[in-house]
Amino acid sequence: MIEEKSLNFLEEIVEEDLKSGKYASIHTRFPPEPNGYLHIGHAKSICLNFGLADKYGGKTNLRFDDTNPVTEDTEYVDSIQEDIAWLGFHWDNVFYASDYFDQLYQFAVELIRKGLAYVDDSTAEEIAASKGTPTIPGTPTPYRSRTIEENLKLFEEMKNGMYKDGEKVLRAKVDLASPNMHMRDPIMYRIKHAHHHRTGDKWCIYPMYDFAHGQSDSIEKITHSICTLEFEVHRPLYDWFIAQLNIYPSHQYEFARLNLNYTVMSKRKLLQLVNEKYVDGWDDPRMPTISGLRRRGYTPASIRNFAERIGVQRRENIIDVGLLEFCVREDLNKTALRRMAVLDPVKLVITNYPENSFEELEGENNPEAPDHGGFRKLPFGRELWIEKEDFMEIPMKKWFRLAPGAMVRLKNAYIIKCEQFEKDADGNITEIHCTYIPESRSGHDTSGINVKGTIHWVSAAHAIKAEVRLYDRLFKLENPAAEEDFKQSINPGSLQIITGAYLEPALAEANQDESYQFIRKGYFCLDKKLSQPGKPIFNRTVTLKDNWKKD
Ligand code: ATP
Ligand code: MG
Repeated sequence: MIEEKSLNFLEEIVEEDLKSGKYASIHTRFPPEPNGYLHIGHAKSICLNFGLADKYGGKTNLRFDDTNPVTEDTEYVDSIQEDIAWLGFHWDNVFYASDYFDQLYQFAVELIRKGLAYVDDSTAEEIAASKGTPTIPGTPTPYRSRTIEENLKLFEEMKNGMYKDGEKVLRAKVDLASPNMHMRDPIMYRIKHAHHHRTGDKWCIYPMYDFAHGQSDSIEKITHSICTLEFEVHRPLYDWFIAQLNIYPSHQYEFARLNLNYTVMSKRKLLQLVNEKYVDGWDDPRMPTISGLRRRGYTPASIRNFAERIGVQRRENIIDVGLLEFCVREDLNKTALRRMAVLDPVKLVITNYPENSFEELEGENNPEAPDHGGFRKLPFGRELWIEKEDFMEIPMKKWFRLAPGAMVRLKNAYIIKCEQFEKDADGNITEIHCTYIPESRSGHDTSGINVKGTIHWVSAAHAIKAEVRLYDRLFKLENPAAEEDFKQSINPGSLQIITGAYLEPALAEANQDESYQFIRKGYFCLDKKLSQPGKPIFNRTVTLKDNWKKD
């Protein structure tokens, strides 16, 4: 029996709407404000909006919600498009809320003509005070009774730049006694003498979110306008504007935003991290941004899969970042090329291997691939680099790696036996001397010897030197945003830079778009921003196992 995956609540709504003939096809939109880079929370919204349209043969618009000229920028517009395309989604149209400024102005005039909007000269404080409280109704300001003619004239003067910022606003005349504070004569337009990234200096009045969003949805004939739960209380207003203007009835549906532990996800906070140089830009590999995750080595498939697994709910919760890591590990395990890299090297000399003599061994590129992904050459010789941590002078119980007198297998190579070692004055191990068993070559082993441990290595004569960057969570606390100052809980050890790692020579041809499993060390990729020819820098995407200690 094939088990069908149950539908999420939005899919249920869409299926019902298609079945009942309410819509012949659906039309969604993704509406980012271009005031920062997209983060993993946006990825959830992207997967949802584009995913619904893909699944039900509908369309999705990309709409930049650019109604606030002060914080918006074309750099963000470009990065948003790049990130959505990288995630693997295609928009049917790209629009800007600012494309609709003329139309929105006409809508506002229409509401004034209907006696449903008025110009208010009160200050922000006066308006707030007159709004009342959820249990006490608001009181009208002296300007609420202005005539339609007066309102038309004043609104036009606002548009023509006759007033300073904050001097006047346009408010909808809804219901000052509504239990929903958003219905108590919300502001539709404010004065802002600011340059807009697209409309330049044409406008000095800008519509508020509530007056721009629903009307933009309606202009584009969006059928299902999906947003996060905090907008649920705005829905009556969304519907009110559409009803009063008698325009295409788009509908708003809300779902719970994605919250992830050990990070922050508001663009305002992420911008602070960038501006105050806690991180190396929006695409720092520790950032929860799409561009950061990409630079870290996350794949689009792993992020889409993550969004699928967390699903769509109506209730807020916090998702463990371990799930995101699980998803990328699962994907990379199938695709990453296996390579050897020694991050903390110590010299190992095989004393019974001839000097200045080398042989070529082989290692499989990917044991998960049907044909093992083919093989790469692994030069082997008398002097190797191995990890310091793979040797213990006085081995603990159940130690299956190198120790005086102990035997291990070198991955894809021979069994070796540790004969002696050298130390410097401070007690650091400087060189390990071993003998190898010539009959024990991997794949051709006739030695009859069984060893329990296998360690990785690189040939000292062939190794390439590289910088390797290991990342830990950017914050020490699960919910840094709940702190008074979220920056106080930044993890000082979130970036560890290793300058003297040794990599096997096949990594000299490492490709920017490829992921590599450094055997026993995790999944890595070339840093696209900082690597230079002959000077590779590798980022660790994720460890092989979940080894996060909650202390
Ligand atoms: P932030 O609070 O991070 O600044 P925002 O909501 O202001 O985010 P927008 O650019 O307005 O950012 O968001 C575009 C779309 O992405 C909106 O529909 C919004 O609801 C959705 N979105 C934003 N953050 C999340 C999140 N954490 N989880 C799911 N969807 C989100
Ligand atoms: Mg927003």
